Amino acid sequence: MKRFFILFVYIFTFLGITIAAESKFVVVIDAGHGGKDGGAVRGIYKEKDINLGVAKTLGELIEANFNDVKVVYTRKTDVFVDLDKRTQIANKAKANLFISIHTNSTAAKMTSASGADTYILGLARSAENLEVAKRENSVILLEDNYTSKYEGFDPNSTESYIIFEFISNKYMEQSLQFADYVQKDFRGIAKRTDRGVRQAGFLVLRKTSMPSVLIELGFINNQAEAKYLSSRLGQRAMATAIYSGFKKYKREFDKKQGRYVAAPDKNEEIDDIAVDEAIIKDKAVIQDTYAVEKVDTPVAKEPARVKNMVEVPKKREQSPKKIGEIPKKEPETSAKTEKAATKNINNQTEYRVQFLVSPKKLSDNSKEFKGLSPVSFYRDGSSYKYTYGSTADYNEIIRIQHQVRAKFKDAFVVKFKNGERVK
Ligand SMILES: [Zn+2]
Repeated sequence: MKRFFILFVYIFTFLGITIAAESKFVVVIDAGHGGKDGGAVRGIYKEKDINLGVAKTLGELIEANFNDVKVVYTRKTDVFVDLDKRTQIANKAKANLFISIHTNSTAAKMTSASGADTYILGLARSAENLEVAKRENSVILLEDNYTSKYEGFDPNSTESYIIFEFISNKYMEQSLQFADYVQKDFRGIAKRTDRGVRQAGFLVLRKTSMPSVLIELGFINNQAEAKYLSSRLGQRAMATAIYSGFKKYKREFDKKQGRYVAAPDKNEEIDDIAVDEAIIKDKAVIQDTYAVEKVDTPVAKEPARVKNMVEVPKKREQSPKKIGEIPKKEPETSAKTEKAATKNINNQTEYRVQFLVSPKKLSDNSKEFKGLSPVSFYRDGSSYKYTYGSTADYNEIIRIQHQVRAKFKDAFVVKFKNGERVK
């Protein structure tokens, strides 16, 4: 009898531990490059060191403030880790979120470009974004057997990137949400230039089975930015911004799981900003120290930020290398889309974002649309269902949905075939 009792105690203790472990939110923090792979290097500044500094600080912040989050690092020291190994670590850990941290560079020796951007997986919509993916992916050339490991993928050939056109990224929406939070906090908390959320084909994100982003903290070939990002204060500010984005994302995650309990008597907004006193102090110093940089041009109000992602970004210096002919796609968000859609409607699947149902037909410039234009509608019984955007590209429509949700939070994607709504 006593034996049984002990057995029960064992079983329940074991179960308890297992349940506790499984209910933890797992975040994988991936410091890009390392060891023989320095990443982008300019003089004394090395990308691998910046990435690791920010990654570790971010991990420490999360560990100190969340006891229901497990932090997994792909590297914690200056070692070389294959790209596919990084993905494997995340998949094996059954991570809920993957954050890859990098530092940007252009082909030029020096650049006046500055600021941070966050990438989600997809086909690059601009030559600039493609160049970033090429540079980051080319680290596989330092790995053994890269040809077989990456199925003949040539990181420097534009043609290779066509595979990213056809990926179905079911985590795209969540990745975008996290990316959005992070960019907002780079601007709001770290006071950096917000270069927006972008898309490109990064191998390290390709096979992760969870929401995942790749952050480019700033430009290493911008002297002031390299100095900032290599400083303890700069790294702490960047890590704090990512941490704050993480906190918001985690809160949304918990809400969806029905696990979120609002702390009593706490103003959430203040809670977000006041990460901890030390950081606030750091921030003050950072602003003093780097005020001279003058890179903190206040950019992007909400809509601009979303736009920034789907549009070809502002012109920057061209790299001397000839950029390959990428299939350049026009952003398909507005008037053009509507026309294109009506033209190509035959024989084609088309997605739109439904945002409003009305019992009567509304005028084209109705206030009900909250400024969305042009909109279209379809009849369903006696009601008029209004939609915005139209594209055959599922990834594209998810982006548009994100944009529409800023105004209509319950907007959702509807599918049409030959002009008919299909379920
Ligand atoms: Zn990198």
